[in-house]
Parts: sequence; structure tokens; C-alpha cells
Amino acid sequence: MSAKEKELVLWFDDVRNTDVPLVGGKNASLGEMINAGLPVPPGFAITAYSYERYIQEKKIAEQIYKIIKDTVTNPNDPKQYDAASKKIRELIEKTPMPKEIEDAIRTAYKELNQRLELKDILVAVRSSATAEDLPDASFAGQQETFLNTKGADDLIDKVIKCWSSLFTPRAIFYRNEKGFPHEKVLISVGVQKMVNSGCAGVMFTINPVTGNRDEIVIEGNYGLGETVVSGAVNPDDFVVDKGTLNIKERRIARKTVEYIRDPKTGKTVHLDIPEDRQKTTCMTDQEILTLAELAKRIESHYGKAMDIEWAIDQDLSYPQNVFIVQARPETVWSSKTMETPVKTEENAQVLKVVVRGISAGRRGYGVGKAKVVLNPDEANRIMTKGDVLVTSMTDPDYVPFMKIASAIVTDRGGVTSHAAIVSRELNIPCVVGTETGTKVMKTGEEYTVDSINGLIYEGVMAQAVQPTVTAGGPAMVMQAQAEAAPITATKIYMNLGVPEKVDEYKNLPFEGIGLMRIEFILASYIGQHPMAFVEEGQGQVFVDKLAEGVATVARAIQPRPVVVRFSDFKTNEYRGLKGGEKYEIVEENPMLGWRGASRYISKWYIQAFRLECQAIKKCRTEWGLKNVYVMLPMIRTLWEARKALDIMKEEGLERTKDFKVWFMAETPSIAIMADEFSKMVDGFSIGSNDMTQGILMIDRDSERLGQMGYFDERDPAVKRILAHLIKIAHENGCTVSICGEGPSNLPDFAEFLVRAGIDSLSVNNDAVVATRKHVASVEQKIILERLAEQAAIASGHALKKPVPDWEWPC
Ligand code: PEP
Ligand code: MG
Repeated sequence: MSAKEKELVLWFDDVRNTDVPLVGGKNASLGEMINAGLPVPPGFAITAYSYERYIQEKKIAEQIYKIIKDTVTNPNDPKQYDAASKKIRELIEKTPMPKEIEDAIRTAYKELNQRLELKDILVAVRSSATAEDLPDASFAGQQETFLNTKGADDLIDKVIKCWSSLFTPRAIFYRNEKGFPHEKVLISVGVQKMVNSGCAGVMFTINPVTGNRDEIVIEGNYGLGETVVSGAVNPDDFVVDKGTLNIKERRIARKTVEYIRDPKTGKTVHLDIPEDRQKTTCMTDQEILTLAELAKRIESHYGKAMDIEWAIDQDLSYPQNVFIVQARPETVWSSKTMETPVKTEENAQVLKVVVRGISAGRRGYGVGKAKVVLNPDEANRIMTKGDVLVTSMTDPDYVPFMKIASAIVTDRGGVTSHAAIVSRELNIPCVVGTETGTKVMKTGEEYTVDSINGLIYEGVMAQAVQPTVTAGGPAMVMQAQAEAAPITATKIYMNLGVPEKVDEYKNLPFEGIGLMRIEFILASYIGQHPMAFVEEGQGQVFVDKLAEGVATVARAIQPRPVVVRFSDFKTNEYRGLKGGEKYEIVEENPMLGWRGASRYISKWYIQAFRLECQAIKKCRTEWGLKNVYVMLPMIRTLWEARKALDIMKEEGLERTKDFKVWFMAETPSIAIMADEFSKMVDGFSIGSNDMTQGILMIDRDSERLGQMGYFDERDPAVKRILAHLIKIAHENGCTVSICGEGPSNLPDFAEFLVRAGIDSLSVNNDAVVATRKHVASVEQKIILERLAEQAAIASGHALKKPVPDWEWPC
């Protein structure tokens, strides 16, 4: 062993990229950059050797590996990983480090203070596992980081916590799964001066969207970079030409939240960005250019495309304020380049954009031969697995073909259209509202569908051929995520429509299904119009099939509830079912037509509604699935609501303590009359897709208005009505949930709902984890604000609070 290999602490100045075995990937990279003369905040690494000595000298190494061996006997049982993790982390956290190591850390921290001529400086304490640079990037980011650590005692405590985070359930699972011996993964800890970040973000030395290597893309927001990395805001976005350093494109986003360091406590707090700063750029052109120059230097130093984190210190002035805090090789495009080497000019890809629309579905790329179809029959004839489905607009009859498509493109529709909702659930890229997709795209030709930017390219973008990712990854990972997810006072539910998908998503951290759409069961599993079953005397067949679909979900997630929505087809959609033409009228505006409750009480559908009720009854009484609840969509008047409930009662479905009935709140009238509607049900679930349509009087499927930005749940008029509904419902003993698309896509809308006091949010599968984290942070923020307010009142310095835009003027 060389002398360096036996160091307990190494200054960043003394490490290089080749020192990964000593200090882990992150620290080695920081050292490499400092030595390349890049502005990296100073610090030191507590070496992997320190950790190794700790577990050997304190004789806990054998115990750790034995705990894993003895506890994880069934690799498919998530509880066993949890149990092993808990035991190991407790063991590490109660075992003090050897005095020699503790002294070395204290001395280094003291020296860092002296070098900076400061006292008790705030440091970031980051784990840096020595296996992180393995080809499989999923090792990264599994261990913990502690920002704003102050003083030597706190530092020692955080170092031990970083060490123990080498054994989170997820990390143990990954190593087992990859067959990577636990003994071979060690951990180093980086201690680095905190930047008092006024603005921060990420940058790429390759355009991450198009793969263009001649561009640098910089994304930033006020405060800490975490808002950009975690996707909590839409950041400002700049594209810089790598050759000329000209800023080619700039998009100033509406930035609603920033994370900053509270100067008093040193802790990170989440703050709303005041209206006047939201639309202003978070950094100067000078700073952008400095960052771009640094990006170029970093890329040329490493000889490859890089993904870089940066921060601008608000306590310093330009140019001393610009810092690089992390740099790693860019993985997505770079690995593709390795698989299919393409020349730089080709990377810019002269692929022509043939049509544009609105991004929907899974964010990513889909590649395949287009099949332009005007109806499901045509799809049936010509579609094969992996084709790009191109059509005017999908409806439930298209679902079997959507399932086999590599991507979906529609002429019509916005973010709440059928194609958007289903493709998201099926995890398929989708671009809606292109207006002319079916005209300009040709059957048999190959295209790349980019559902990040809403673009369709002619031909195959080589690098776009990426593996599909599911919402949460393997079941074990989802389970680990579920365990790690914060507890929130606001419940987080999930939306679901395709019953068999429940197995894929059931381990996500949701507390129930807040919207189970049954239109998919009706269209895909049953296929025939319910009234046709009635007429043929085959009602029981319909009941059994519908009950089976609902039960698949209810069984998989019990005892968590499933709120089943009675059918909400529009006449144009029901006509597509077998026999539909006989029972459905042709309407000019089906969105505003015969749908929801108006069907159930009408002589043309009541018998079919009775069958839907019987299917629910079957689940609850015959199969004992007491977690099946119901809700009624599209309620417009008090009298129709009463009638619909009466029919349900006749079918044996009456509210009890363990059978909840909700109304969807999708019409302005239900919100206006919320006090009266509250008397009939246990709760409301806001259908913000229809509610926004109703309040703003815009067809939610209008591609034109969608592209122009009219469809926006955050419109103050919509927010006022929703806040009113929540208030009145609560005053009258009802709960309020939401199941429209809004909170899945818009963190600031979710924040508004939490502030307005909503009881639960039901979001899409791919938004469950992020929404839970976001809601937890909002709830904490509210508590802190209230405490600050009380303290201000007590000290007689209370300031006038700004009135939120959703409050009605008195
Ligand atoms: C809604 O209107 O917000 C809703 C959830 O229902 P759908 O999108 O199915 O109309
Ligand atoms: Mg609706």
C-alpha cells in the first residue's frame, strides 16, 4: 500500500480522476477539476480507507455482511431488504469512529476554516461510493448528502450517517441484483464549502434533447440547484453555440419556487418566488458566457460530453461568484454514440421536423414505421407491434392498438385528451394536437417521435433508440422508493384505467386509487355496447366482466381503496362500441352532451347503469372487496344527482361507514352549489380537466387553444372556484380530492391545492413519487410560515400578508 492509499483524509487538491478507489467517483472528479484550474469550492475527502479501517477496527464488517446473508433469504421480499438495512444502519450509527479518524476529520475541518479565514463554515457532506463509476449508473445517487452542515461535531455525525447510507434497502438490493459483492463497495465522504447559491442549475456540453454536440445547454433557477435537478420548476433555459459562444436561444420560464439557505438557521427552506421575479432571467449574460466557457474547458479536459452542476454565489461578485460543483460524463447520448458511432456532424442530425404538436405521454422518444389510420378497423388491419400510430384522435376502441404502438401522434387534442391520458398510463411517447399529422405523415415511412419537445422527425434518430423505462423501475426499486417516500398529511392517490397495469404500479407509494376509469374495461375487455347486452338478455355477462376488471385492481392493492368512476363515455365514443350506433345519438358537442349522470337517469341508459351498479355490488358483497368505492362523473344539477343516487339505492348501493360515495366536481354548478351537494355524498373529486373546460369555456380537446396556452388549470378563475369548493365542502363535512391531470403536470398547481386544504391528490403513475415529495415539502413550508407568522404577531411585528390570487375579493 502506498502512503497515499493509507491517508485518512485527502484534500481535493491532492486527488485526481485516477483516485476513484481512494475517494470515490464524485470526489475524484472534484479534485481533477480543481487541478485543471476550474473554480470548484474547496474541501477534502474522508477516504474509503478511513471507512474500511472503521469497520475493521470496530469489528463490524463481518457483522454487516452476515446480517445481509441471514436476513435477505428471499431476494423478492422487499421487507427483508428493509430489515437488513435497518439493522445495519443502527449498528453503524451507534458505533463511534476510531479516535484517530475523528481527529483527522476535525483537523481538516479546522484547516479548511483557516484557509478561508472563516469560522465554523457551512459545508456540504456528500457520500461518494467507490463503485459509483461502474458502468451501471444506477449505483449513483443512492447514498446520502447533507447540506449546510456546521461545526466539527455535526460533521462527525453526518460522516457516520453517510457511511451508513451505503446500506439503504435500495443500495443492498441493487448490489444483490447486479451480483456485486457488498465487500467490494466502500464509501468515501466529501466535505466541501457550501456555495451560498443565488442561482444554480445544470449544463450539458451536448444538447440533451437533439444530441447536437455543437451546442451547450444551460438550465438554471434562483436558489439551490436542487429545484432544477428534481424538476420542481421549469428552469430558464439557454442554448449557447459552442464555437462562437453566442446565446442562440433563451427561454425564460415562469419560476415559482426556490430553495434557499435560511441565513438564521442555516437550513434549506422552500420559498415562493414573488410575481415580479418569476419571469425575469435568473442570471446575467456574462454569467451565462462564463459558464459556457467553463463547460468547454471541462469537456476538453475530459475528452467527452459532460453533464455539469454549477452554482452562483450571491455573497461574491462576478466573476468570483461562478462555481462548478459537480461534473460527470453525460450518459444518454454518449452511450448511444458508443453503440452506434456517428460523426459529429451527423449528431446534429439533419433530420427534418415534419410536424409539431403538444408533448404528452411518456417523455422520451419513439421510433417506428407510421401507420396512418382513420378508425380502429383500419388499425386492426395494418398495425403491427412497434409501429407509430397516427390518427385524428384516439378513443377507447384504439386502446389495443395503442398498447402495441412505439409512439402515438394525433391531429387533435390537448394534454387532457384521451390519447394523452392513455399513452401516459401505458408509458408510450405521444404528441397530440399536431393539426396535420395524418396528412403529412405517410404510412410505411419511418419517423422519430420526440414527446419531450412535441416534435416528429422524418427518419430514425439513431440515438433515440433508448430502452423503455417503467414508472418506478423494477418492483423492488418501487418498494424501496415507497419505503423511503415521505409521509404527507395530504393523501397521495393514483389514477388507473388499464387493470392489468396494477401489477406494475402497485408498489408505488400511493394510498389508494383515486380514479379508476372503467372505459378501458368496457372498450377493450367487453367491447360491446352495454345496452346491447341488456337487449340480448345477457346483462350478467357484462356485470361479470366489469366486476372482474375492477376486482383485479381491488385485490392487488387491498386494503387500500379503489374509487371506481361509473362510465363517462361521450356519445361519439360509445358509438364506436359494437352495437353502439343503435343506442347513441350524433351530437355536435359530445363534451357538453349526454354524458355522466345525465345518462344514468335517462330511459335510454338506465338499465345499463343498473348493470354497472350490480358489478360494484358483486365486488363488494360476493367477493368481499370492501375497498371498492364509487364516484359519479359529470354532475350538473341537484335533481339529477338525487335521481342517480336513488337508482343506486335500488341496486343495493347506499352510503355506509365503509362504502364511500363521491361526486366528481367537473362543472361550475357543483362548486357553486357545493353546500347542497355536500348533503348527498362523502366527498368530491375534482375533475380539473372538465372543470377547467367548463369555467373557461374552452373545449379541452381544442388543439389550437391548447397550443396557445389557454388550457391552464392555474388560471385564477379556476383556482377561485376550486378553493371555494374545498372550503364549502369542508364546512359541510365532505372531503375533497382531485383526479384531473393538473397536479401530475404542474407542481405549482399541486402546491395551490395543498394550501387550499385539499385532502388528497390522485396523480398518474409516473408522478406518484415526485408528487409525494413535493407535497411533503409544501406542507413543511406551510408549517414554517405559520410559526413565523405567530412569532411575528407575538413580537408585534406582524406584516400584512399578500392576498393569494385564488381568494375572492370581499
Ligand atoms: C377530469 O375531467 O378531470 C377527469 C379526471 O375526467 P376525464 O379526464 O376522464 O374526463
Ligand atoms: Mg372528466
